[in-house]
Amino acid sequence: MRKIALITGSNQGIGYATAQTLLENGVTVILTSRDEEKGLESLDKLKDLGEVHFCQLDITDMETIKKAKKFVEDKFGKLDILINNAAINYDTWHSVSDANLDEIEQTLDANLMGAWRVSQTFLPLLKKADIGNIVNVSSGGGSLASQTGGTPGYSISKLALNALTMQLSNELRKDKILVTSVCLGWVRTSMGGMAAPRSAKSASEGIVWLALLEDMKYSGKFYRDKKEINW
Ligand code: NDP
Repeated sequence: MRKIALITGSNQGIGYATAQTLLENGVTVILTSRDEEKGLESLDKLKDLGEVHFCQLDITDMETIKKAKKFVEDKFGKLDILINNAAINYDTWHSVSDANLDEIEQTLDANLMGAWRVSQTFLPLLKKADIGNIVNVSSGGGSLASQTGGTPGYSISKLALNALTMQLSNELRKDKILVTSVCLGWVRTSMGGMAAPRSAKSASEGIVWLALLEDMKYSGKFYRDKKEINW
């Protein structure tokens, strides 16, 4: 049976490119977007590549996450791959000492809690796959060595996301669910800006490589360009 993958925030940028690369690899994709109109436009552009479905999903809104889970459960009865991609606020405008803490809370709510909410909700469906796979789209800014100042909300949210990867991977090993974090380098998207050297399509290759792994030895690690890197 074909693998089923759900990607958060896949109406544009790296999430959209990941949907494209997964479809090229024969995976059935559930493209999600917090904005229905944007999601349906993106779905239209991908539909000739393979089997792709749309579901509205806002990672900060539990009701939409539960509805998306019901959609996947009714249609497929399982989920093989979850890609926690959606994120916000690369906060170059903050320093840690005087950051706007309301804004930092919003960043943590999306970038950490969003991935946590979506992972928890979809776990029963991931457990029904032969091998499950959760890929958390992190950043070099989330490594411990990068906590030297700058983009504090974003960097701390990705550091915490990496901790979520470690904890989940330990707990879910017995269920044959791999959990990994990935760093992509600097990528041309609305978050990364147009000066970035890497295309979203090229960045998506590293995500898809992780999403298709089936050997548990790869779980609980942080990767860039298909190689393990330090947390
Ligand atoms: P974009 O800003 O282009 O895309 C982010 C996506 O997340 C959009 O689809 C956006 O939706 C969605 N999103 C934001 N908030 C929510 C929410 N509450 N619910 C659902 N979806 C939401 O950024 P990128 O493609 O660059 O980023 C994708 C991932 O890659 C992120 O995790 C980012 O941190 C990571 N990354 C990016 C790098 C880069 O250089 N670009 C480098 C390293 C990591 P909408 O269109 O509605 O805003």
